[in-house]
Amino acid sequence: MKLSIENRRYSHEITAKNDGKEVSIAGWVHEKRDLGGVFFLIVRDREGFAQVTLHKGEVERELFEQARKVPRESVVAIGGVVKGEEKAPGGYEILPERMEVLSAASHVLPLDTTGKVGAELDTRLDARFMDLRTERTKHIFIIRSRVLNVIREFLGDRGFIEINTPKIVSAATEGGTALFPISYFEREAFLNQSPQLYKQMLMASGFDRVYEIAPIFRAEEHDTTKHLNEATSVDVEVAFVSAEEVMRILEELITFVYSNLALYPDLNSLKLQLEVPKIPFMRITYEKALELLVEAGEQIEWGDDLSTSAEHILGERIGEHYFITEWPCAIKPFYAQPLEGKDTCNAFDLMHPRLELASGSQRIHSYELLKQSIESKGLGTASFEFYLNAFQYGMPPHAGWGLGVERLLMSMLGIDNVREVVLFPRDRRRLTP
Ligand code: ATP
Ligand code: MG
Repeated sequence: MKLSIENRRYSHEITAKNDGKEVSIAGWVHEKRDLGGVFFLIVRDREGFAQVTLHKGEVERELFEQARKVPRESVVAIGGVVKGEEKAPGGYEILPERMEVLSAASHVLPLDTTGKVGAELDTRLDARFMDLRTERTKHIFIIRSRVLNVIREFLGDRGFIEINTPKIVSAATEGGTALFPISYFEREAFLNQSPQLYKQMLMASGFDRVYEIAPIFRAEEHDTTKHLNEATSVDVEVAFVSAEEVMRILEELITFVYSNLALYPDLNSLKLQLEVPKIPFMRITYEKALELLVEAGEQIEWGDDLSTSAEHILGERIGEHYFITEWPCAIKPFYAQPLEGKDTCNAFDLMHPRLELASGSQRIHSYELLKQSIESKGLGTASFEFYLNAFQYGMPPHAGWGLGVERLLMSMLGIDNVREVVLFPRDRRRLTP
């Protein structure tokens, strides 16, 4: 028979009903089992596993030896005849007639792909290409892809325009220190911290509802399980609405993602039962959060940001997604709208019981107020001129938020380390692969 790689079938496309049919499959040698008279090759492809069964004496000696000698994880193509076999994965086996080793693997593997031997996260990340061959890791990234699709579907259906803003920028979004400088010809530039300034400028364009899904770069030195130096953010900005409206969009998006994902069979391989959170999410003010924390014995004062332990205490107390609203302006960015006559802002954080998922606010849309706010944070207005300009020629009221894709995934999937949900994470120590 001819071996046809282009016309290969995925393992899940073949069933016992194809008994007697000739097929070609291709994939990685997942396992080899030698039972003396009979030899099994388990071939893995993107969709699953196929058992290739070689009976000694029944197949050509050369083919038998080739199968026996091929190193695990080599890429092979196999042509043969399907036979129904209840005990094999997918209920069939393939009795091979031809085999081609397309790429032989080295004998010592950096990782075990069968999941039988566990490995440290660092070892897995060092050999990520191989780690992705394991069922659990593969499914995390299929789910990631689906989550991004579902987010685009949700926002697209609600009239949002997807935008792309520059990642090489001249000024810090919030004037902070957490920036990566880069050399840009004869000038210094930075990797963007967030698309904040640009998505706001687009509110002056008449687009009304925009979103961007893109990398954000944070030069934070800390090495935690929830911070990356390159993360992915879903950023949304909406004109002619209040913060309450964008909070509603956010909570509806979260439940939409959960309910879509709850249907996917891939979750089984993560041994996960997704419970769709109920909306509306609870809203508590920063002041109330502080009260709860003091009650619980936490050392915290007005104007302090919430530490990780504070987030955990509140999360345990509340037990489901919730918003913290009315933050002190001092710990929110300059573009957050102050609440009339108060030192608090119309800003919010969306919290999962375990960690912060998103931050947002009503934005200042008055040119004068925005200028003052920038100055009051000790920032020079000169470097924000390109941004401030957009507020001088008709800027509608607007509000928006930024949601961390990795934070959303780790909270949904019950994963402790944010690095697990990024293909090639960038952290304090990791710049390769
Ligand atoms: P945190 O206080 O948890 O460090 P942040 O308040 O500095 O986060 P924001 O500037 O509010 O972060 O960014 C909006 C969202 O982007 C965050 O709620 C989070 O989901 C995500 N995000 C921000 N920084 C990081 C990071 N370093 N790694 C992963 N996700 C991040
Ligand atoms: Mg935040």
